[in-house]
Amino acid sequence: MKILKIDHLGIAVNSIEDGKSLWTDALGLHFEGTETVEEQKVTTAFFPVGESEVELLESTAPDGPVAKFLENKGPGVHHVAFRVENIEEALAELKEKGIRLIDEKPRKGAGGAKIAFLHPKATNGVLVELCER
Ligand code: ZN
Repeated sequence: MKILKIDHLGIAVNSIEDGKSLWTDALGLHFEGTETVEEQKVTTAFFPVGESEVELLESTAPDGPVAKFLENKGPGVHHVAFRVENIEEALAELKEKGIRLIDEKPRKGAGGAKIAFLHPKATNGVLVELCER
């Protein structure tokens, strides 16, 4: 398995509209627009930072995973995403090594990426996303 870089940092917010001025006006990042991923009940907004990006996550439904995260922990860092060369290969390797996975198979993420999450209980409490673009 080959990790190429930190692809993005996912940050849960109550509202992208309210949250984005920090990233644009205060920090001077470029706002690339929003995209809704219905399967994950989330709207995302990407802000490129060098080779990586900040991804703001706003829930589209009260029973979505981001809504549950906000309810339990409040706004904040939600996940770290590593870009891998081959996501199927990476998942197979991690499974073989006994790492607990949330997704055994990749699903569709924002920007047409293939993504999969590792279980936070297997990763020191940090939700880790693998993504391939
Ligand atoms: Zn992500």
